[in-house]
Amino acid sequence: MKECYFCKGTTEIKNVDVDFRWEGNLYVIKDVPVEVCAQCGERYYSAEISKRIDELVQKGRPQETLKVPVLEFSQ
Ligand SMILES: [Zn+2]
Repeated sequence: MKECYFCKGTTEIKNVDVDFRWEGNLYVIKDVPVEVCAQCGERYYSAEISKRIDELVQKGRPQETLKVPVLEFSQ
C-alpha cells in the first residue's frame, strides 16, 4: 500500500514502538517496521508483522519491564 485508506496521504515504512494488549497485560514492542501515513499517522500492520508481534508477546524475552501509570478519566 502506498496511499492512506483514510486521508489519501502517502504511507512509508517507519520504525515505531507498538502498544499491544494481550491477556490483560500491556506490552510494548520497540522498533517495529510499520507502514505509517505521513499525513494522519494511521498505521498499517501487514499480516507478517502482526504474526511476529503475536510470537514475540507469547515467546519473546522482555528487555525491560516498565511501570505504567493508570488514571481514571473521572477523577
Ligand atoms: Zn492518512
